[in-house]
Amino acid sequence: MPYDRSPDQDECPLCAERAARLAAYLEQVLPLAEADHETFLKGLQTHPPTSVLRIHPHALKRQIERMIGIGELRDLVETGIPMEWFAEGPQWRKILLVGETVNGRLLHVVCGYDSARPDAWYAITAYDPRQGKWWWFSQDGRRRVCFCPPPPDWDPDEA
Ligand SMILES: [Zn+2]
Repeated sequence: MPYDRSPDQDECPLCAERAARLAAYLEQVLPLAEADHETFLKGLQTHPPTSVLRIHPHALKRQIERMIGIGELRDLVETGIPMEWFAEGPQWRKILLVGETVNGRLLHVVCGYDSARPDAWYAITAYDPRQGKWWWFSQDGRRRVCFCPPPPDWDPDEA
């Protein structure tokens, strides 16, 4: 099974081409993501009343289940590095940030924002990509390497 990769196998043999296409796409768009991230962080520092990080109820639930503190989540949003970025519809943007907490815990935080309001972000979910549930990432959690269909027992609600 392609999603049941052994610990020493960091690439999915079936998905090398798609992984390369994603890498090429991200090379184009991550500078945009980084610019929006900077705008967001600058907003947090200079205009606290209008700039805001909202925690989506889903994220709140997940962060409690996964024992991710609110401070850790905020830290991650502030210090994380944009790893993936997608446009959903004309205005909605989704960004995946990767970073380490002060305790050295590697986490992903997924945020969404309206491109017209890059100073207001919503944290959608947070998780440790090196847990088995996120089978499509590399071992170091910093690249998507697999696009195969999910395992039969995989629950999308887990993400
Ligand atoms: Zn694959």
